[in-house]
Amino acid sequence: MSQKLNWIKEFDKPLAIAGPCSAESEKQMMEIAEQLNKDYVQVFRAGIWKPRTKPNCFEGVGAIGLNWLKKVKDEFGFKIATEVANASHVKLALEYDVDYLWIGARSTVNPFTVQEIAEALRDTKKVVLVKNPVNPDLELWMGAIERLQQQNIQNLGAIHRGFSTYKKTKYRNNPQWQIALDFMNKMPEIPMVCDPSHICGNREGIFDVSQQAYNFEYDGLMIESHHQPDEAWSDAKQQITPDRLLEILRKIELRKSDDEDAFYHSKINHLRNEIDETDQGILETIAQRMKIASQIGELKKEHNVAVFQPDRWKQIKDNSVQQGEKLGLSEEFIDKLVRAIHQESISHQNQIMNKENSN
Ligand code: PEP
Ligand code: MN
Repeated sequence: MSQKLNWIKEFDKPLAIAGPCSAESEKQMMEIAEQLNKDYVQVFRAGIWKPRTKPNCFEGVGAIGLNWLKKVKDEFGFKIATEVANASHVKLALEYDVDYLWIGARSTVNPFTVQEIAEALRDTKKVVLVKNPVNPDLELWMGAIERLQQQNIQNLGAIHRGFSTYKKTKYRNNPQWQIALDFMNKMPEIPMVCDPSHICGNREGIFDVSQQAYNFEYDGLMIESHHQPDEAWSDAKQQITPDRLLEILRKIELRKSDDEDAFYHSKINHLRNEIDETDQGILETIAQRMKIASQIGELKKEHNVAVFQPDRWKQIKDNSVQQGEKLGLSEEFIDKLVRAIHQESISHQNQIMNKENSN
């Protein structure tokens, strides 16, 4: 935590950004701000300009909504946040003294857009948050942060909102946690906020995804909340009431990065030694498998038989999935594992096939 940028340290609880997907009316904004618990929520969010997938949908109320955001700040004391997608949004947001500006997932994919926003924000002391791009590209996400850093913008943060997939999974946007964890390893000073609303696309999964984020020691959450979620003009299915939000924020358990307790340390060291030994065993077993695969490769070469045998591959996979199931390992995991091992065997055998005969 100590290496994180200072702006995140001003909060004694983890950062919670909440508020509607979109500003709809002054009444709606005031109603929601009134209902959000000020002890748990520090920043009020609302989209003013909305990037919609299809035309002819509600595309945000536009600049008039900034008056309502400002009113929320003045009357309820929240910091306020909105999405900016071009230089004129930035100019208006700064005029209305918006405290946190975020770059949306559809903008992060476009270096021209990010550059334009970065230049418009040059030298700002405002907090600027960058959502992950819609596609799973770590470099693009980090590149956006670097463009902002190059314009001397220092109060930066990242928002993990998941990644689009063609095939729909249980998530609207697949979290692919590893990408955000890699981001945190490569840019440890940048605070990481999770957006479970856009990851889940529904209300039911929000607690679990939020808890998962805190298990990974994220610095905060951005959760869409609306006083009448079913009536919301955008993202109705994923918005939750301020009451439900409070329940979630109270229930989440925070994890520490370590514990001073001596018993904990001796126990975890012992278990880690066991893990190291087990890993060693796994690698030795895989190396042994590759040796056998190479012998098979020699045999195939002698008999001029093709390296890849689809029936045999299917048999290996089906057996492994069946055995894995008995051992409590998921089909998805076994599929990835066996595929990786099989590909390595195939590449060993290909090397043998392509080797010039030495005699
Ligand atoms: C939003 O936060 O309302 C939004 C449009 O998010 P994203 O850019 O993650 O789709
Ligand atoms: Mn939304």
